[in-house]
Amino acid sequence: MSEQIYIGVDLGGTNIKVGICDVEGKLLHTYEGPTGNENGADFVLDRIAEYVRALVRESAIEWEQVAGIGAGIAGFLDIPEGVIKLSPNLGWRNVPVKKILEEKLGKQVVIDNDANVAALGEAWSGAGAGIPNIVCYTLGTGVGGGIIVGGRLYQGYNGMAGELGHMTVVPDLEAIACGCGRMGCLETVSSATGIIRMANDAVERGDATVLASVEKMTAKDVFDAAKADDEVALRIIQRAAFYLGKSMSLVSVVINPQRFIIGGGVSRAGDILFDMIRENFSKLAPERAQEGVDIVPATLGNDAGVVGAAGLILRG
Ligand SMILES: [Zn+2]
Repeated sequence: MSEQIYIGVDLGGTNIKVGICDVEGKLLHTYEGPTGNENGADFVLDRIAEYVRALVRESAIEWEQVAGIGAGIAGFLDIPEGVIKLSPNLGWRNVPVKKILEEKLGKQVVIDNDANVAALGEAWSGAGAGIPNIVCYTLGTGVGGGIIVGGRLYQGYNGMAGELGHMTVVPDLEAIACGCGRMGCLETVSSATGIIRMANDAVERGDATVLASVEKMTAKDVFDAAKADDEVALRIIQRAAFYLGKSMSLVSVVINPQRFIIGGGVSRAGDILFDMIRENFSKLAPERAQEGVDIVPATLGNDAGVVGAAGLILRG
């Protein structure tokens, strides 16, 4: 075996997952261990190098076959320089990850943010395989995104391309503040956090809903209630889906992707959510921008991060 392989690192607050992909983006082998972030950035970067070596050792691949290493990291990054400017969830500031890991491993290292990396994973060997122009949404605690143009990840001028959660789509009178400091971002209504907030508001207002008896509200509770025809829950999901469809209609005349891919915890709600998003998109997008365009669920699940990170070497 002598072909080149690509290593991806999914750096999370609790665990680090590393994986090997072949040139088609097929995940051949993974290795996972604790992050140990309480010991500081130097310690964590040592661990990454250690896990990468263990991964290669376990998988009967020669070190020479490693073309490079990509890493997906949540936070604000200087992508060309490979520096974490600020990672709120790790508590890191100005850490030159690329330089340090390249010294430790002697291979090219590329970093990018976690949502971009997940999008690239889906584009490489997930729901977008073989399609050159794709826009991905990740619906979780927030709303992340990633844009693939001509088969490559598009980062924009300073890494803000694909920050789909911060499209200000909610009209002023209904807008609430977003974590980014602006009002009315998509994330305030279409993330799990946004859905939970709308549900709690409805309960507080005294709306007649089964959600009133839920103790610690989750987005899944709201979807379950909607599936059981609870009108308040349905209205909330409709609102989340409306703004997703609206944002996609805007994206469709900017990027004109062939496929929208939706991943993240909220996307597990399934047909009820996807049908509503499709309905709103088809109402709002110009006809020509929706011809032959589909909106589909992500398929790589938790592997999207590690596959996409590996893909940074080829397609970042
Ligand atoms: Zn925002």
